[in-house]
Amino acid sequence: MIFLEPRITLLSRPSFTEPGHLPVAWLGESTDGERLAEFAGRLCYMSQKNPASRATRDYLENIKKQGHGSVLEHANYSLLLEGVSRSLTHELVRHRAGFGFSQLSQRYVDESEANFVMPPAIIGDEVLTAAWQAQVESAQKSYVALVDQLMQRYAWVGDKVHRRKMAREAARGVLPNSTETKIVVTANARAWRTMLELRSSEGAEFEIRRCAIAMLRLLQGEAPGFFSDFEVYQAVDRAEAARISYHKV
Ligand SMILES: Cc1cc2nc3c(=O)[nH]c(=O)nc-3n(C[C@H](O)[C@H](O)[C@H](O)COP(=O)(O)OP(=O)(O)OC[C@H]3O[C@@H](n4cnc5c(N)ncnc54)[C@H](O)[C@@H]3O)c2cc1C
Repeated sequence: MIFLEPRITLLSRPSFTEPGHLPVAWLGESTDGERLAEFAGRLCYMSQKNPASRATRDYLENIKKQGHGSVLEHANYSLLLEGVSRSLTHELVRHRAGFGFSQLSQRYVDESEANFVMPPAIIGDEVLTAAWQAQVESAQKSYVALVDQLMQRYAWVGDKVHRRKMAREAARGVLPNSTETKIVVTANARAWRTMLELRSSEGAEFEIRRCAIAMLRLLQGEAPGFFSDFEVYQAVDRAEAARISYHKV
C-alpha cells in the first residue's frame, strides 16, 4: 500500500476535575484542557473569582500574549500518526521538550509487506512515480531476501525471536526513508505549539509540513484556546503553510 497522506487519530485529551474548594467563575465555551490551563493560571494569583470577567478562550489569549506559556504545559494531547515515513519521524523526534514518542520497531516487526509513503513532491507525476515505485519495490525485495539469508546464517541461534531480530535489524538497512511507520506522540499544548510553528512553516520539509497542518487542524478543533492564533495559508510553493501570532509562548 502506498500512502498519499497521513492518517491522524486523537488518542487522548485532558480530563479536568475542578476542586470543590477552589471553584472558578468560568465564562464562555471551553474544553477540559483549556479549563485546566486557566485553573493553573488563576491559581498563581488566586484570581478564581475572575475579576476581569474573561471567557476561558480570552483568558488563554492573554496568557499567550503575556508569554505565560508554562500553564499550557498541564494539558497533554496524544496523537497516533500512521501513513508517515521514517524520514518524517526522524525529524519529528528531534522535538524534545514536553514530548513523548513510541514508534513501531523495525527490529521486532517484519517489514516484508511494509507500506510506503510517496513524497508529496512526486504525487501526480507519472514518470517520477514510476521511478520512485520501482526503487521502493526493489528495496523491499532485497529486504525479504536478506532476512531469509540472515535467518539461515544465524540458524545456530536457538531463540527464534532473537534470531529474527538479528536478521531484521540488519536487513532494514536497505529499506528507504519512504518506508511507512507508525508513532504515538504525546505532548503538552506548549510543546505542540513550538513544534507546529517550526514544522508548519514554509521552511519545513513538505511531508512533515503537510502532517503538521493536519495535526494543527485537529488540535485547533480540540482546543481553540491553545491553537487559534495559527493561520493556515497557501504559500508561494502552492502548498499549505501556517503562521502564528504568538511565537514560542
Ligand atoms: C526547517 C528546519 C530545518 C532543519 N534542518 C536541520 C538540519 O539540517 N540538521 C539538523 O541536525 N537539524 C535540523 N533541524 C532540526 C532542528 O535543529 C531542531 O533539532 C528541531 O527543530 C527541534 O527544535 P528545538 O530543539 O527547538 O525543539 P525542542 O527540543 O522541542 O525544544 C523546544 C525548546 O526548548 C528549549 N530547549 C530544549 N532543549 C534544550 C537544551 N538542551 N538546552 C537549552 N534549551 C533547550 C529551546 O528553547 C528549544 O527551542 C531543522 C529543523 C527545521 C524546522
